[in-house]
Amino acid sequence: MKYFGAHVSASGGVENAPLNAAAIGANAFALFTKNQRQWVAPPLTPGTIAAFRENCEKGGFTPSQILPHDSYLINLGSPDPDGLAKSRAAFFDEMQRCEQLGLDRLNFHPGSHLGKISVEECLSLVAESINMALERTSGVTAVIENTAGQGTNVGFSFHHLRAIIDQVKDQGRVGVCIDTCHAFSAGYDLSTDAACEKTFAEFDEVVGFRYLRGMHLNDDLKAMGSRVDRHASLGEGTLGMAVFGYVARDKRFDGMPLILETPDESRWAAEIRTLRELAETR
Ligand SMILES: [Zn+2]
Ligand SMILES: [Zn+2]
Repeated sequence: MKYFGAHVSASGGVENAPLNAAAIGANAFALFTKNQRQWVAPPLTPGTIAAFRENCEKGGFTPSQILPHDSYLINLGSPDPDGLAKSRAAFFDEMQRCEQLGLDRLNFHPGSHLGKISVEECLSLVAESINMALERTSGVTAVIENTAGQGTNVGFSFHHLRAIIDQVKDQGRVGVCIDTCHAFSAGYDLSTDAACEKTFAEFDEVVGFRYLRGMHLNDDLKAMGSRVDRHASLGEGTLGMAVFGYVARDKRFDGMPLILETPDESRWAAEIRTLRELAETR
């Protein structure tokens, strides 16, 4: 079964996210469980938690169809001790929110070295941060997203994802999410079926499909290898439609949230319909 959805708004409360997802015909969704641009948020109330769970049930959304995303401020590989401590506390809070909502995974960007430490040191800090969060929570998998490699972000190479996973103690609770725009901007060709075959074979060899917990389906406004993170609507970027057809048809992407983070939300319902049509042609 293919689960297609989008990163929907949770404004007015997280309980609105499943309603917003149902309204665009999605059978998956992503959300922020707190304001993504603030460090601290009030705790989820029992009423909100109950309403979220009820709306998920009504909409037919199980945890394997939901991919919460953490705050953009968090840098789990920060070379700055204060920034690192703040990030680890905020990440732990986000993991706890997922636990409270009955969700089983949390998607995050690994971090940035800020030009002050090596990539390897940064990746080790990220792994240590994941270990700390996993020790204090249960039932939630830490899902590392590949990045475009913009600025000093780590995680743009499949080998970075592998290096982090290798240093995580509880490997049953670490996973990855591949963003098609980020992969293409990082230099992984996904522009044809043959290129997808090759890139995902490399992904399987270096990381392993057993770690895949979701996908972000975005076209790319910039060129392959640009190391710039700018999403485009499906078919409107440099990536083209091949990879979306590939993911829709291939069973290795079944049973996990496949999430649009495309810029024009008025097109999400149509984009989901297109993905479903592509899936049916397999
Ligand atoms: Zn993404
Ligand atoms: Zn992005």
